[in-house]
Amino acid sequence: MIVFDLHCHADDARFEAWFRSSADFERQREQGLLLCPQCGSSDVGKALMAPAVGRKGNQQVETRPVRREVTVEVGQDSAVATIAPLSDEAKRALVAMAEIQRKVLEKSKWVGGNFAEEARSMHYGESEKRAIYGETSIEEAEQLIEEGVEIAALPFPVAPPDAVN
Ligand SMILES: [Zn+2]
Repeated sequence: MIVFDLHCHADDARFEAWFRSSADFERQREQGLLLCPQCGSSDVGKALMAPAVGRKGNQQVETRPVRREVTVEVGQDSAVATIAPLSDEAKRALVAMAEIQRKVLEKSKWVGGNFAEEARSMHYGESEKRAIYGETSIEEAEQLIEEGVEIAALPFPVAPPDAVN
């Protein structure tokens, strides 16, 4: 099963729907089986997954609801859910940032509470440099920065991979 965020072109409604596959979605859409739950129109398409950046003309830029888009891991959307009334521009910026964070973390290794130790060990050449992310206290982070270790705070909360199914 796959979930798509859908967009009704008639009244701009957004909703989610489940399909067996991407092909199943296409088939249902072509046969006019997809109806907007708000107005009943079958003029329904996929809502764009990412903000359209740098497009010219009067094309509409669509974003998915920010609460879902910024969710990096299951159960970690509360911090973002509280800031719902944002301008479209702010939402797009958040969406783009969350996407960047997600991509960065994809190539990064979760080291949990060993973050400070690992970062320090790489900094002093005791272990090979690689991309890591993990948890550390503010004091420890300040200490690392003081030592010249290059670290950065993540703008969005992440769930430890070992705590997520
Ligand atoms: Zn509609």
